[in-house]
Amino acid sequence: MHRAKLVMTGRLARAAAVVVLVAGMAAETPATGAPPEAAQVAALPTPESALGFRPGDDFKLATYDESLAYFRALDAASDRVTLVEAGRTSEGRPWFFALVSSPANLASLDRYRAIAQRLAHPSGLTDEEARRLAAEGRAFVHIDGGLHASEVAAAQHTIQLAYDLVANASDRRIARILDNVVVMLWPSVNPDGQNIVVNWYREHVGTPYEVAPLPRLYQKYIGHDNNRDAYMLDMIESRVLTRTWREWEPQIIYVHHQTSPFPTRIWLPPFAEPIASEVHPLMSRTVNAIGMLIAQALEERGQVGATHMGTGFDAWYPGYIDYLPMLKNTAAFWTETALYRYATPHYYTLADFPRDKAALRSESLYPSPWKGGWWRLGDAVDYMLTASTAVLDYAARYKDELLYNRYQGGRDTIRKYAAEPPYAYLVPQDQRDPVAPVELLRRLAFNGIRVSALTAPVTIEGRSHPAGTWVIPMDQEFAELARQLLETQTYPDLREYPEGPPEQPYDAAGWTLPYQMGVEVVAVATPLSDEARASLAPVEGRPADWRSEDDAAPFDSVPGPGFDTDPVAAGIRPAAATPSGSGPVLVIEPGQNNAFRAVNAAWRAGGAASLDDHGRWAIAGVSDTVMRGLVESLALKAGRAGPARGVRVEQPRLALYRPWTASMDEGWTRWLLEQYGFDFTSLYNADVAAGDLGARFDVILIADERAGTILEGFQAGTVPPPYAGGIGNDGVRALDAFVRDGGTLVCFNQSALFAIDALHLPVQNTVAGVAREAFFASGSILEVMVDTAHPVTSGFPERAGVFVSRSPVFTTLPGFEGTVLMKYRASGSPLMSGYLLGEEHLNGRAAAIDVRLGRGHVVLFGFRPQWRGQPFATFKMIFAAAVFHGEVAAQAGGTEGFWTPPVK
Ligand SMILES: [Zn+2]
Repeated sequence: MHRAKLVMTGRLARAAAVVVLVAGMAAETPATGAPPEAAQVAALPTPESALGFRPGDDFKLATYDESLAYFRALDAASDRVTLVEAGRTSEGRPWFFALVSSPANLASLDRYRAIAQRLAHPSGLTDEEARRLAAEGRAFVHIDGGLHASEVAAAQHTIQLAYDLVANASDRRIARILDNVVVMLWPSVNPDGQNIVVNWYREHVGTPYEVAPLPRLYQKYIGHDNNRDAYMLDMIESRVLTRTWREWEPQIIYVHHQTSPFPTRIWLPPFAEPIASEVHPLMSRTVNAIGMLIAQALEERGQVGATHMGTGFDAWYPGYIDYLPMLKNTAAFWTETALYRYATPHYYTLADFPRDKAALRSESLYPSPWKGGWWRLGDAVDYMLTASTAVLDYAARYKDELLYNRYQGGRDTIRKYAAEPPYAYLVPQDQRDPVAPVELLRRLAFNGIRVSALTAPVTIEGRSHPAGTWVIPMDQEFAELARQLLETQTYPDLREYPEGPPEQPYDAAGWTLPYQMGVEVVAVATPLSDEARASLAPVEGRPADWRSEDDAAPFDSVPGPGFDTDPVAAGIRPAAATPSGSGPVLVIEPGQNNAFRAVNAAWRAGGAASLDDHGRWAIAGVSDTVMRGLVESLALKAGRAGPARGVRVEQPRLALYRPWTASMDEGWTRWLLEQYGFDFTSLYNADVAAGDLGARFDVILIADERAGTILEGFQAGTVPPPYAGGIGNDGVRALDAFVRDGGTLVCFNQSALFAIDALHLPVQNTVAGVAREAFFASGSILEVMVDTAHPVTSGFPERAGVFVSRSPVFTTLPGFEGTVLMKYRASGSPLMSGYLLGEEHLNGRAAAIDVRLGRGHVVLFGFRPQWRGQPFATFKMIFAAAVFHGEVAAQAGGTEGFWTPPVK
């Protein structure tokens, strides 16, 4: 048959599609006796007919809206495609994925989904039953158009892949895929970003700014960090994906990226070292096998330059949306295809190559070195089509094993933690911030971890735990995820060579959520007693419908659709709160993030707020109803009292610096301030340089940003003129005047170095220029001692964990006036989780400082206080700094009651 030998990927596939179309038309003449699918194929719209170009053509990109329109047309024309609405994006855009399979499979979807569910949650299943289900079931494979929207090829390849699968169903290989696999094909997993990037490119293609970087984030708040949110689930997109995966339980999740290490053309698993320590080995083996099969498929098509492992992409951090599912016994991975910029082609010569690759030597895992030449969007699309099809081919050939191994992963995990510690984690309800454990547990539950609660007081390992205590029994199938998030990380000591500098972790080394969120969690090292087991009741609530717009619980830090759409998460709530006592003032216990939600709400309602030197906020001038409503909805520990004590705090005129360089940290800060009800203004370079800032603002925040970026921004000529440059010398003078006249400038992490230099602060970064083999503390949690008397750190415990990443370490210089807010211990290691080399560079040094300058303050945080929306324990420091102005600021620093120890 003329269609039997069609090759299914890339340019050949496009040529083939035309052949099929022609054959289909010919089939309309009765004499040929064409098979039934031919008639259907004839009606299928090609990508080219719908878009006006072929996916992968130079200078052409389809938006998400256009891509979705094409998928809708395919759905209408084919019985092999069904579109499913997954949810809405951060910008409210409807978000769909396609199920692609044989008509027979699509007719039995409910049955196949039930099998996938049963094997994913194997409790009570025997091996024999599991084998039968694996044989009967179909593989579910998630493939998508990427979530890093500037990596443009992925979302173009999904359009072609959809067509190829549907139009060439009689090709033997494709037929096997459609018979054995239900493809969950997502046009994009960042629809907003795809539109943003494509529209930007269209605006500038053919101009001198054709390849200019995007001057904004390609996700409403967090841009590239949309692939770092898999367990925190702060963003709507992360929750939509996670919820959908839990509904369908795919056995493979494959996400395309585009930062192949130059000059290789595609990076594939196996991953670099280290990988997550407790992943089921079958999952790692599966991903390794798939990586090798993709490479082989590429070579078969003459697509050279595939590589594996290397030093770049390790899999230690579980925040990747395309790796976390490994901890739930799903083969999840990503690949990195080469990219120039957008849809613009580029010619490379050997002179562009790094020296060790210019010799074009064959390597064991890079046996077909790429020799340079043109690299086009179409090449990247073709590599991705080969890779995606190879993954589907693997799933079709090894369908039974894939399904059975999903079962084995869960079964083995349940057995493991029935026999070895930790047997459970206990989470007391009574905590400093009663909402923090709820925020932690709701995230775990949304990710599929079951939570119970004690129905009666029980003594476990010598400690009595009251009824209501939450319990995570570890004999459950996704237990490894709970362990990865709750336990301390010990990053392996990997060196570039013996005694050499440590290898740079690709991402964070330690993230332990109880430390970051300030939540006490108790690991249980001995088996739970029968009495304890008998007192466990699974937590379950009434789940909200994700289609309803506004189902986030008011105490949650995330906007709707929130965690309540999961039944277990919906059942995890803070204890009901009512204000104790009587009186016109509401006094809020210290240390609660939601105190700031209450204060912001009170200001908005025309009330007044004051802060005492124990970190207690008092709210006055609002009605009883408002007061009670705040306490109940925000689950506040609070009481009513007589006249307010402490210092009156007015609502600040707050600004957040927003560079054109698309700062993720700015985005995370903006997100956080919005969630906690702060009113603020985004401050752009021109606004800063225009000066007279004190007339407009009381407090200015600058998130983590390099000094050079703040000062200089994008170089002139690389972006359209409105986006070029930084705040410049005018901006520095304006900020200096703003502080000296009484303003508060707050700088996170690297931006502290900008402030020290630009404003000539008597503070020094003591680790500047220290060699990496002497001091290395990237992406870890360190312990600090806190001055709890200062308004910015009031409400903290005396010791706290802070997340550092490329962080400065401070000492004060002669002439310093102000307060050391946090400092590292005088001796010994402050490491709580992750990796630290050279603790002596931290001992006795400061991690946060309030510097007096003129009549104002510069508050420096030498860490990441809101890193990726995770450290709930340090959020309140940002909030407190955001309201650190007026009377409170005038009294702080050097006056009695505020601790100002000397720092050497
Ligand atoms: Zn990427």
